Amino acid sequence: PRDLYGARKNSAGLEFGHAATLGRLAAALAAADGRALAARPIAPVAVETLPSRPVLEPADGVSVVGAVAEATPEAAGPLVAAAKAGFGAWSRTPVEQRAAALERLAHLLEAQRDRLVALLAREAGKTLPDGIAEVREAADFCRYYAAEARRLFVETAMPGPTGEADRLVHRGRGVFLAISPWNFPLAIFLGQVTAALAAGNTVVAKPAEQTPLVAAEAVRLAHEAGVPADALVLAPGDGALGAALVAHRDVAGVVFTGSTETAFAINRALAAKDGPIVPLVAETGGLNAMIVDATALPEQVTDDVIASAFRSAGQRCSALRLLFLQEDVADRMLAMIEGAAAELTLGDPRDPATDLGPVIDGAAKEALDAHVAAMRQTARVRLAGPAPGEGHFVAPAIIELADAAALTKEVFGPVLHVVRWRAGELDRVIAAVAASGYGLTLGIHSRIDETVERIVAALPVGNVYVNRNIIGAVVGTQPFGGSGLSGTGPKAGGPNYLARFALEQVVSVNT
Ligand code: GLU
Repeated sequence: PRDLYGARKNSAGLEFGHAATLGRLAAALAAADGRALAARPIAPVAVETLPSRPVLEPADGVSVVGAVAEATPEAAGPLVAAAKAGFGAWSRTPVEQRAAALERLAHLLEAQRDRLVALLAREAGKTLPDGIAEVREAADFCRYYAAEARRLFVETAMPGPTGEADRLVHRGRGVFLAISPWNFPLAIFLGQVTAALAAGNTVVAKPAEQTPLVAAEAVRLAHEAGVPADALVLAPGDGALGAALVAHRDVAGVVFTGSTETAFAINRALAAKDGPIVPLVAETGGLNAMIVDATALPEQVTDDVIASAFRSAGQRCSALRLLFLQEDVADRMLAMIEGAAAELTLGDPRDPATDLGPVIDGAAKEALDAHVAAMRQTARVRLAGPAPGEGHFVAPAIIELADAAALTKEVFGPVLHVVRWRAGELDRVIAAVAASGYGLTLGIHSRIDETVERIVAALPVGNVYVNRNIIGAVVGTQPFGGSGLSGTGPKAGGPNYLARFALEQVVSVNT
C-alpha cells in the first residue's frame, strides 16, 4: 500500500495529569474571562451589518463572551465579489507557497493553543480535553491539506498511444463557500477553509451563528500566517445570509457540514440556480449504531459506549445514538453502562473535573428535554436528569426501545437509545441499521471475526470502529465522512478530499 503518512506528523497531545500543564491552562482561562471579543465580517470591503448582538456562554446562559455584528443577506454580493477579486492571484500562487502558509497557520494554532482552548470553553462549552483535541485536529487539517496540495498540484504526464504530449493538471475552481457547524467551530471551520485554500480556491466562510468568535480568531490567524485578505473572507451571519451566499452566481463550490435538512436545502438551491453546475461536499448527521454481541468484553463496551454517547455531551455527528445489545448480556452491560453514566460530572467546561459541558444553547436543551419527555410515553427511560444550574445542561439519558424503528431522526445530545436482540437475529439488526438511511459511523463489539466481517460487508457506513469507541477520527489516518443521508463524501482528512475542490485540466500538445 502507498504510504500516505510520509514525513507528516499529527499535532502532539498533552499530558493532562501534569500540574504545570493544568496551571498554564488555568492561567489562560482566567485571562480569557476578562476579555470581551468581537466578530464582524472580515473582508477587504466594508459591508452592511446588523446591530451587534452579544454571544453568551452556554455554560450559564448569561455571561457575555463577546459581540458579533453579522453580515446582512445583502452583504452576500460584496463578500463573494471580494473573494472573486482575490482568486486570480491566489490560484496562481505556487502550491509550495500556499502549503507553507497553511503550515504556518498550524504552528500559530499550536502556539496559541491555551488561549483557543479557553475560547472554545466559553463560546462552545467545550471541556478542556475536547478543546485541546480540537486545536490539534485543526492543526492536523492544515498540515495534511498542505501535504496533499503538494502531492496533487504537480503536472502529471499521461503517456499513451497518442504520440502527443498529454498532461493532467489541477487548478482552483474559484470562490468556495464554506458553511460550518458550531460543534467543531475551529477544527471543521478550518478543515473546510484550508482544503479549499490548498486547492487554489478563495473562500467565503460562514461560521455557525453560535460560534462566530472562534471563527474570527481562526481567520485572523490565517491572515497572519500569510493567507491574503482577499483569499479568505469571513461572513458571520444567519441562515438568510447562508441562503444568499449559496444562491450567488459566482460561488463555484460549496462545502457544508451540518444537518441533513440543511444539506438538502443547499442541494435544491444549487440545482435551481443558473450558471455553472456547482459541486457540493456535504457532511451531515448520523443515526449511528453500535452492535454488541455476547462475546464482547463488558468493561470495554462500557468505556466505549460512555465515550461514544456522552463525550462532548453527545454533540458529535459521529456519536453513538443506538446501541444494540445481545439479550444474553444486556442486563449486565446495561447495569454497568448506567452506573458509569450516572457517575459522569456535569459542570463548567473549564473545570478539569468536568466530563460533560453544556449543550450549545437553550433551543438545543429544550429539544433534547422534549425528546426524553416524549419517549416516556412509548419507551422505557432508564436514566435521565436532573441537570444542574442555570446553564444549558442536559444530563446523560438512556432510553430502552422495543424496536429500533422508534428512532427515526438524529437526536443531537447526550441521549443513548438501547435495543435488545437475540442470538440468530443479526440480520434483523443489520436491516434495522440500514433502514435508517444514514451511514456515518458504526461500532461493532465482538470477538468473532466472521460476525465483524459480515456486518462490515452488509453496511455501507463511512467509518466503522471495531472493539473501540466510535468518535474522534484522526486526520490523515481515519478519513471521516459518510454515505446516504450522512453526506456526499469524499472523506475529510483523506487522500480523495482535495481533488473534489479542484478542477482537472488535460493539455494535449501535438509535438
Ligand atoms: N470527526 C468527528 C469525530 O470523528 C466528528 C465530526 C462532527 O461531529 O461533525 O468524532
